[in-house]
Amino acid sequence: MDALFQIFISSFLLSLVHAAIPSHWLPLIALGKAEKWTDRETLTITAVTGAAHTLSTIAIGVIVGLVGYKLSESYHFITKIIAPLILIFLGVIYFILEYRHSLIKTSHEHHHIPIDEIIEKKKSKKSIVFALSAAMFFSPCLEIEIYYFTASRFGWLGISIVSVVYFFVTVLGMMFLVHFASRGVRKLNWHFLEHHDKLISGIVLVLVGLLAFFIEY
Ligand SMILES: [Zn+2]
Repeated sequence: MDALFQIFISSFLLSLVHAAIPSHWLPLIALGKAEKWTDRETLTITAVTGAAHTLSTIAIGVIVGLVGYKLSESYHFITKIIAPLILIFLGVIYFILEYRHSLIKTSHEHHHIPIDEIIEKKKSKKSIVFALSAAMFFSPCLEIEIYYFTASRFGWLGISIVSVVYFFVTVLGMMFLVHFASRGVRKLNWHFLEHHDKLISGIVLVLVGLLAFFIEY
């Protein structure tokens, strides 16, 4: 497989599971219902908060990528061996979290957006959007950052592929989920996604990590 194509596919998979993490889209549905937003408003707000979240994640990723690029000039094994190993290791942690999660059976503790607080305070729409965007901006996600190491072997081209794919797939993926899940489309098993996101993330991380071993430089 062509190396750049492989980076594209891996970024795509990581971004898909990222968008699917319930804390990224469930609170928006709950808020939209509580605040009586129209579908259009909820989707726009999803796009804004999704963009805020991915932009901060990408900013960190670019720094990681540049560091990775510098390191890979003299320490080839970092991008070739260490980065994939970290991805696989993260995947295993997700498996453990999934297992522990199903043992403890604590269901709805995974929202990192304080929705109850927002709803109770009866804030204006503008300030809600601002609060949400800030919360999402300041909680960037980790998984993709490690992949920047792997992609950085190809310099700005690799870094750009990961960033562009991550931005569009995450934001559109979140919008897709908010749109269809809020309409109560029952054909897809949202509940499964809601409670097994760690399992799905774990599988993708291990897969992407394994693939990264085989990228030809
Ligand atoms: Zn995230």
